[in-house]
Amino acid sequence: MQFYDGITFRYRQADLSASQYLTTDMEVDWPITIQDLEPHYSEIEHLLEISGTSGFPSYPASLRGVKLSNAMQELGIKPKNIPLAIRPPGTSNGCNQCSSCDELMCPTDAKASVLTRNVLDDSALSGKISVLYGCFVNRIDTRSDGRADALECYLPLSSELIRIPVERVIVCASAIQSAALMLRSKSGHAPKGIGNGSDLVGRGLSFKISGYSTGYMESDDCGSGVLVPHWGPHATVYTDEFYEHSDVPCGFGGLIYEANFLSPNENAGRVRLHYIAGEEPWSHNRVVLTEAVDRHGIPYIRFHYTNSDNDHARLGFLADRAEDILRRLGTSRIEREPLSHAKGSSHLHGTMPAGRDPRKSVVDNCGRIHGSTNIYVMDGSVMNFPGNSNPTHTIMANARRMALLLE
Ligand SMILES: Cc1cc2nc3c(=O)[nH]c(=O)nc-3n(C[C@H](O)[C@H](O)[C@H](O)COP(=O)(O)OP(=O)(O)OC[C@H]3O[C@@H](n4cnc5c(N)ncnc54)[C@H](O)[C@@H]3O)c2cc1C
Repeated sequence: MQFYDGITFRYRQADLSASQYLTTDMEVDWPITIQDLEPHYSEIEHLLEISGTSGFPSYPASLRGVKLSNAMQELGIKPKNIPLAIRPPGTSNGCNQCSSCDELMCPTDAKASVLTRNVLDDSALSGKISVLYGCFVNRIDTRSDGRADALECYLPLSSELIRIPVERVIVCASAIQSAALMLRSKSGHAPKGIGNGSDLVGRGLSFKISGYSTGYMESDDCGSGVLVPHWGPHATVYTDEFYEHSDVPCGFGGLIYEANFLSPNENAGRVRLHYIAGEEPWSHNRVVLTEAVDRHGIPYIRFHYTNSDNDHARLGFLADRAEDILRRLGTSRIEREPLSHAKGSSHLHGTMPAGRDPRKSVVDNCGRIHGSTNIYVMDGSVMNFPGNSNPTHTIMANARRMALLLE
């Protein structure tokens, strides 16, 4: 959260029941409904002061965002202000638009993170919480009944190996690292790793398929500021017109939003749009461990990954619509960046699918590993379908939901 863009969308029911649009060989539907997440979304919006929610003012569209919104409207596409975890300019401790703030720490704390907002209410907890910085959990040791009894950890700074006895383990290491930890934790009674009896751990790895198109502006008839450097958030306006739309391949699209370049000057004379959609989770897309080990004896992680034809078709549709908007804006030339996973790959999902049936999922709807009584996963890896929006709000809301279900 120190380096993110503060884009804080809620998911929709369609994200949690994507099987109505997509066909894959994995369990794509989540074992919960959007109503299960709603109170947790509200709580997080309140804690992080998300603009445009819970009575907090909207973050105003940037100058170029206004121009993009006008172009969208002229095409019959509804523009909206992005809910941002950034206090708007002019509010108490608000954004002073000191840079183009993608991937930068906020020097004024206008951007919310767990360090800048009082997110953790520990008033009701007894005892102490110890946080071990720089502590790499190498494996979870389990008993023959599947119960975790210790963590084997490595402290790179002191080269120490330590063993921490545990009553309960809650893994939130990201979709790639959580799966890798489970795979590293194999033992005589879990020969393929923790929770991997059905060979599903690591499978269904999915990102956002995403891309960028840039329009070049030579004149600025409306004085909208597109010819000058951009200062302020990465993105302020978006459209969800094609989230679920019959024209999109499969009927299931995603978002198109303003996406300014990393440094203010790069934006002068250029307007960029980003389009993202959740990728189909397939079992052949996966995280595995190699036989080779690093200098600490820890296996390397390898991905097997290809996008499906549906992914490409859905993204191609969104790219075409984004370029319609840029043309309407009056750009002299449009460049579509070569397809990469750029920012969409900062969104990691799948690998520990959730569900009721242990033959089709790794964790239950509370994040508990099937067959274990005290090992839980509460991060992006339990998201069966990645969703068509930026995921962090949902990762947090779902983690909060699961945490409150702990006995
Ligand atoms: C530049 C950038 C901009 C972004 N902007 C947005 C945005 O605007 N909106 C949005 O919704 N999302 C955004 N994202 C994505 C967002 O950062 C992720 O979705 C989110 O951080 C995922 O949360 P997580 O808890 O699953 O994993 P992480 O945040 O990756 O947390 C996992 C933690 O586990 C630790 N860890 C991993 N393995 C081990 C181990 N073996 N032992 C001990 N610790 C371990 C890691 O060090 C890390 O601290 C952005 C990402 C990037 C990179």
